[in-house]
Amino acid sequence: PPKENPQVVIDAHGLPYQNAKLPVKKRVADLLSRMSPAEKAGQMTQAERNALRSPGDIATYDLGSLLSGGGSVPTPNTAAAWAKMVDAYQLRAQTTRFQIPLIYGVDAVHGHNNVIGSTIMPHNIGIGAGRDPKLAGKTGAVTASEVRATGIPWDFAPCVCVTRDERWGRSYEAYGEDPALVEAMETVITGMQGSPSGEDLDRNDKVLASAKHFVGDGGTEFGSSTTGSYTIDQGVTKVTREELEAVHLAPFAESVKRGVGTVMPSYSSLDIIGDDAGPLKMHAHDEMINGVLKDRMGFEGFVISDWQAIDQIPGDYASDVRTSVNAGLDMIMVPTAYQDFTKTLREEVTAGRIGQARIDDAVSRILTQKFRLGLFEKPYADTSNLDRVGSAAHRAVAREAAAKSQVLLKNDGAVLPLKPSQKVYVAGSNADDLGNQAGGWTVSWQGASGATTTGTTILQGIEKNTSSATFSKDASAPTEGYDTGVVVVGEKPYAEGIGDVGNGHDLELSDADKAAVDTVCAAMKCAVLIVSGRPQLIGDRLGRIDALVASWLPGTEGDGVADVLYGKKAFTGQLPVTWPKSEAQLPINVGDAAYDPQFPYGWGLTTLKKAPGGGELTLTALAAAAKLAEKAGLGRTAAGKEIVDRARLLVQQKTGGKPTAAVSKPFAEADHLLLTGDLTGAVAKLRTAYRAV
Ligand code: BGC
Repeated sequence: PPKENPQVVIDAHGLPYQNAKLPVKKRVADLLSRMSPAEKAGQMTQAERNALRSPGDIATYDLGSLLSGGGSVPTPNTAAAWAKMVDAYQLRAQTTRFQIPLIYGVDAVHGHNNVIGSTIMPHNIGIGAGRDPKLAGKTGAVTASEVRATGIPWDFAPCVCVTRDERWGRSYEAYGEDPALVEAMETVITGMQGSPSGEDLDRNDKVLASAKHFVGDGGTEFGSSTTGSYTIDQGVTKVTREELEAVHLAPFAESVKRGVGTVMPSYSSLDIIGDDAGPLKMHAHDEMINGVLKDRMGFEGFVISDWQAIDQIPGDYASDVRTSVNAGLDMIMVPTAYQDFTKTLREEVTAGRIGQARIDDAVSRILTQKFRLGLFEKPYADTSNLDRVGSAAHRAVAREAAAKSQVLLKNDGAVLPLKPSQKVYVAGSNADDLGNQAGGWTVSWQGASGATTTGTTILQGIEKNTSSATFSKDASAPTEGYDTGVVVVGEKPYAEGIGDVGNGHDLELSDADKAAVDTVCAAMKCAVLIVSGRPQLIGDRLGRIDALVASWLPGTEGDGVADVLYGKKAFTGQLPVTWPKSEAQLPINVGDAAYDPQFPYGWGLTTLKKAPGGGELTLTALAAAAKLAEKAGLGRTAAGKEIVDRARLLVQQKTGGKPTAAVSKPFAEADHLLLTGDLTGAVAKLRTAYRAV
């Protein structure tokens, strides 16, 4: 076919694969039987759109996919410009002889976050704190709706990692430290894709999801990184088989059950204790990808590599390509070396080092998703949906998610909620900074401080509730006459790597933040909000703070944070990770033998006036109710959760909101049991915690 001339379009209509009435399987088989080796290699290739030497290369190399890596945005960076850009690339793919559409992918990890004006959700750690699977599903649906409106059918999300050591710079991409919590939040996959069978994928508000990073990305050993001296990102995960299964693989089994369309392997290496093999790069892990993910779990989607990750496999490029494809990778995020990749892949096949059956399997998997997404019928964006991006309805979901994500760790003297009549002194580096509260993966890869997109800051949210707020970023001269200080501190944006280097790579607050806290809390009653991707060490300073809130990275809707500060909504969030006393305690996780954190996993005071539902509040009554509820199969329902919430409230009342080591352990374990559906076990643990006070 004359591919040199992009104007020449060979009308492929009339061939069986073009017939939308035929089953996807038949369409795939028909198309596959017609494809040349070059066309097959092209389908397995994903290039970065900025790396294209010319847009014509899409047709020349029969590229199957393009991505926008973090920060690879069109100018101007608007939803309309995104749709136009993606369509222009798609047009090129439509000039190839079989008109196989491109599948375009982006990292929309908390909303359609590359696009200015989109709705930015709390980062996953805040979604985990919300403990609301239904709401998590809604955030996924909103993200999908905004992404697809711009003509993009594929999202490299969610991260279903389980973070075991919060020195990991990607901790905020995790829903939490407990696999049961991560699994519960995977409703987000259903929100994005619809039904597990894939039948909703051709809807104009659904996208293909990607469970990442397979497997053990959140379990890398501190100091084991091959790419830095301190970071534990991309390091070695050293675990027993039991721990691998229970902690890191379990969330992927859940993703597969939910029909996730793609899985992305991790940059990290896996070192299974007891096997003699030593650490092996996940992108080369035949046993895990072919054996566990595809054969055992029955994953039917396709495996997309991480960015340039095959280059990290020891050996020359040919060996990288051979090893990864033979290990079960179906599409490689090259992202710049697309010419080398397609050439090398074909050479390896010709030499018989990669079997034809492996190639056909990979291409079939990719084509299957393209058919399911309806891309052959509708390759272009439906621009009539562009007004969804950043819409009021979507922002309302983000606002609710932001409110639910707030975890009240301490509340002496019931400082919170605030009253509109109170005179408040607002201070701190993160009080009035949209970029900081959105975190990394916002407009640019690393994110940035300042007004990088549209939304409300926490200060703006507060100002909508009261006319008597004074703001001073550096907490200068908080003179007399204020009822309460609200000090908002925490991290600056970052993505991957070691985290907020501005603050040093430990989990300490910056000196300026410490000073702001100390000044305000010495002058008046104070509530401190920590806007960060992970716990920050508060140490003895806790004694000088009246109320402490873990705000995580709440996204563009600062209004949601103000909703709980002013009691329009109650605080209901719970810690998705253990909050340590010191860095020496790390890693620290629920289930550890020794467990004496500052606040246990699952901790979170509520400002609900009384437990929902009313009735007698005794642990004995609750234990009996839990037994009945479990018998009735209410273990994982809201009714079941309510019983445990009430028991939790009793413990909190008895401790005066201050957990000790003896309380922390059973308290944290109760939350884990609740998530696994063991209601009576959860209440029994809370009973133990109650007695330990
Ligand atoms: C990250 C992935 C991401 C990819 C594409 C990589 O650096 O590890 O999570 O999906 O880039 O942007």
